[in-house]
Amino acid sequence: MIKLATVAETSIRLPDLLSMRYYFESGGTRPYSFRKQQLLALKQAVLKHEAEINAALYADLGKSPEESYVTETGLFLTEINTCLANLKSWMRPRSASTNLVNLPSTSKIYRDPLGVVLIIAPWNYPLQLLLIPLIGAIAGGNAAVLKPSELAPATAAVAEKIITACFPPQYITVIQGDGAVVIPEMMRSFRFDHVFYTGSIAVGRSIYQLAAADLVPVTLELGGKSPAIVEADADLAIAARRIAVGKFLNAGQTCIAPDYILVQNQVKEKFLSLLKETITGFYSEDPSGSSDYGKIINEKRFNTLVSYLDQGNVIYGGRYNRAALYFAPTIMDDVSLDAPVMTEEIFGPILPLVGFSTREEALSIVQRNPNPLAFYLFTNNKEAEKEWILKLAFGGGCVNNTDWHFVNHHLPFGGVGSSGMGAYHGKFTFETFTRLKSVLKSPLWFDPSVKYPPFKGRLKLFRWLIR
Ligand code: NAD
Repeated sequence: MIKLATVAETSIRLPDLLSMRYYFESGGTRPYSFRKQQLLALKQAVLKHEAEINAALYADLGKSPEESYVTETGLFLTEINTCLANLKSWMRPRSASTNLVNLPSTSKIYRDPLGVVLIIAPWNYPLQLLLIPLIGAIAGGNAAVLKPSELAPATAAVAEKIITACFPPQYITVIQGDGAVVIPEMMRSFRFDHVFYTGSIAVGRSIYQLAAADLVPVTLELGGKSPAIVEADADLAIAARRIAVGKFLNAGQTCIAPDYILVQNQVKEKFLSLLKETITGFYSEDPSGSSDYGKIINEKRFNTLVSYLDQGNVIYGGRYNRAALYFAPTIMDDVSLDAPVMTEEIFGPILPLVGFSTREEALSIVQRNPNPLAFYLFTNNKEAEKEWILKLAFGGGCVNNTDWHFVNHHLPFGGVGSSGMGAYHGKFTFETFTRLKSVLKSPLWFDPSVKYPPFKGRLKLFRWLIR
């Protein structure tokens, strides 16, 4: 258990987690009216701070106001509006059927809050990946600690300002700082009731280990290598447009961006020329001047991206400017499947293009990095569509598109295997932050003695009642 504590070596003040526990236990976070009020306060605060949010996202990632709205604030607004419109019905206990042996009892399923939850966000969509889970935490009737990424400091500061303006710290609070220091410290000294983590596979693994020590349930939203397959019968011009926009959004720093392209050999050259033409059309000959093209988050990531350029043949782009953290949209081919560019998540604007002849060959290449977070297929063939979707385990994806499944709040979003566990968005976010509680209610007027010992001689009856 922890009081307002100081991590001695780092002088970081941890939140008063015990007072959060008391606040949650008081029951004040449970009523519908309270949850609704908090959601409305959060929505108003985000709208009020929209200009500051835009400035912060520009400072951290070079995002334009349009991109910030579509991929951050607008997404948040869709989710919170959906939640506000449906919360009352989501919270309602559901009647369930009752089986023969339990009749005439009645059955109900309640959605219980989890308690004090921890939400950890990465830097690439630093606002929505922090605040959309928070919508679920509030809607579910929980108290929450938020940990924004220290690598997007401007957005982390605005997020803290919004949260501090809306909520008392014993209900919702923000902890800043180096995640590698503050998160293990908090998780070792306090038992959270749920941890919702978005970020890399490596850190996700260590969060899972920390949680396991106290049997804390987790949602892990991780990454991986998400392929885009272009079959010979696809509409190549549309494929080029939709892959290019999905890849180069946020300078390729999108967890669901197509990581690499597998294109059928007979259309490879034609597709490549359409892709080049499309990218130039989107961002001009010099994307460094385009307001629609962002920057790399920091020098460490930048250096990793530069190192990939030696691992194949750069056939488009390849220019960069370290001082400005600018890295041009880049296409590579002749990459070895064993090179880091084809084994690590690229998470930047480099798009390797690999040819294939048969579907089996393409599948075997995808399965070198199994369980992609996202999967994109371009084809006009319904059989091909069926085959890929049935054969491959992936988090979610699109046919003849990229990225947009993330934006449909009617679809659960999450990974599988190494790309994560659990899902959220829309109603699924509320479900993630609540627990099913089953209750059977029995009447007093019916109390058959057959249910009490001695049971001898009743086997035939039990066989009939229970089957
Ligand atoms: P990261 O794992 O480095 O950091 C994420 C968060 O974890 C940050 O808040 C950070 O402070 C904290 N953290 C860092 N090291 C820690 C440690 N040792 N112990 C505890 N906490 C620690 O991830 P990132 O670089 O910010 O994000 C990039 C990754 O996230 C990519 O792999 C990407 O695919 C993935 N991602 C996934 C989704 C998704 O929805 N599935 C969305 C965005 C990003």
